[in-house]
Amino acid sequence: MTDFNPDRRRIITGVAGATLLSILSPFARSAGVDYPFTLGVASGDPLPDGFVIWTRLAPKVMTPSGDGGLNKPVEVRWKIASDAAMVHVVRTGQATAHPRLAHSVHVEVSGLQPGRPYWYQFESLGAQSAVGQACTAPLASAMVSARFGFVSCSHWEAGYFSAYRHLAAERPDLVFFLGDYIYEMNVSAENPRFPRHHATPDPMDLAGYRNRYAQYKTDPDLQALHACAPSVATWDDHEVQNDYAAQWSQDPNVPVDSFLRRRAAAYQAFYEHMPLRASSLPKGQEMRIYRNLDYGRLARFHVLDGRQYRSEQPCIQANGSRRGHVAPSDCPDLRDPKRTMLGWEQETWLDRSFAESPGQWNVIAQDLLVAPLEQRDLKTQAQGHWTDGWDGYMTTRERVLASLQRHQTRNPVFWGGDIHSFWTTDLHADAGNPDSAIVATEFVGTSVTSSGPPFEAFNSILGLNPHVKFFDSRQRGYVAVDLNEQQMQTRFQVVSDVLDPAASVSTLKRFVVEAGKAGAVAG
Ligand code: FE
Ligand code: CA
Repeated sequence: MTDFNPDRRRIITGVAGATLLSILSPFARSAGVDYPFTLGVASGDPLPDGFVIWTRLAPKVMTPSGDGGLNKPVEVRWKIASDAAMVHVVRTGQATAHPRLAHSVHVEVSGLQPGRPYWYQFESLGAQSAVGQACTAPLASAMVSARFGFVSCSHWEAGYFSAYRHLAAERPDLVFFLGDYIYEMNVSAENPRFPRHHATPDPMDLAGYRNRYAQYKTDPDLQALHACAPSVATWDDHEVQNDYAAQWSQDPNVPVDSFLRRRAAAYQAFYEHMPLRASSLPKGQEMRIYRNLDYGRLARFHVLDGRQYRSEQPCIQANGSRRGHVAPSDCPDLRDPKRTMLGWEQETWLDRSFAESPGQWNVIAQDLLVAPLEQRDLKTQAQGHWTDGWDGYMTTRERVLASLQRHQTRNPVFWGGDIHSFWTTDLHADAGNPDSAIVATEFVGTSVTSSGPPFEAFNSILGLNPHVKFFDSRQRGYVAVDLNEQQMQTRFQVVSDVLDPAASVSTLKRFVVEAGKAGAVAG
């Protein structure tokens, strides 16, 4: 298929009811005992001829050793069909689920047709998984239109994942998870309004992180979103620990070597629970997740890792705390060109990825708010910049924006999360000069559940930040993006009540970006 097929979305819609039903009640559940597919299925990182399909066998969701109740290698059969009823099977195969990867399975399926939906299912231990729907990327030469969604910050304790359910119902072609997919910290004891609890203590080792992911993966809305479309995942801090930077814990009393062991466990558990390719397999204490994906000629997605390669936290406070904070603007670390947020290798890779992009649109899918933000410390009112994001590493932002300009990269748009609020901003060539050229457009999505920053306090600093076109921190939700050659339409979607498992959805705000003209227009 070289052009967008107008029938495609209708086909997908037609089978969606059946697919969602089978997700919610796996039809082959064998007598209800030891059903191994308790964590659902997922697909990811599509290419024109295939995608990754994922599952993890866990007849017991959480166990003290985090082994899912299995301790030997288990054979898993998989099949791909061209129809939702799994009648027309086009590929089959077998994989081994190993204890060393928590009985997760990552099959890199190839040899499929470009730009069309497929359905997949696993079979093991006498049971069948739910049927998932995936979709190959369009042919490299194809100009298509597509719907994307992006989400971040789903804290189990803080509420229900209705945002995931409503995004699934939009039948996106591809979903981006931009970080804080899990939260490592247990805070429901201090937040009596929180309706759910983590079942295990703060994870410190592989067993702990496996159990944390396993609990999240049991959520029916999360399972429905993963089963309805392929996804592309990157991480932020809470997949390991709040506000960590590379090998440095936020806690100054934790030595680097012990923090690196914790980080390696967290990274491995991330690999085990996400539909990632083997190129992301952990190597020692590191794991490569920055990568790019081409979606025909429509878009190149530059997916960043904003955490693993950072210079040490900037402007460390007198008491030694490495937590994010509002630092005075004259703190020299903020503007030190020898410091990097992405790491030098990733910066070089990103420069090439911009230079060689075939995409009409260039989406930088990453974890954080990119725009500079003059803000005030919530307690002292002292003005400054937040250290834990791009404002803590201003020269990285300057280099990335200069790279986009140098290569005349077409239609750059940043997507992000982390800040639990919606933002639409213009990214200017000179951050200090709102009259300088707009290099790129930015959309940041609110959290799926995590509590937002105080609205009035942030609203009061918008006058200091004329490049901010929209801000709201009061609601939870997701972002939906309809993209074609000429136009990007972005919808900020909000759920009615994060404490209601049956919350409804509505549109808070719409923006349009026209190709050839950076900067969003309310639409
Ligand atoms: Fe978060
Ligand atoms: Ca975060």
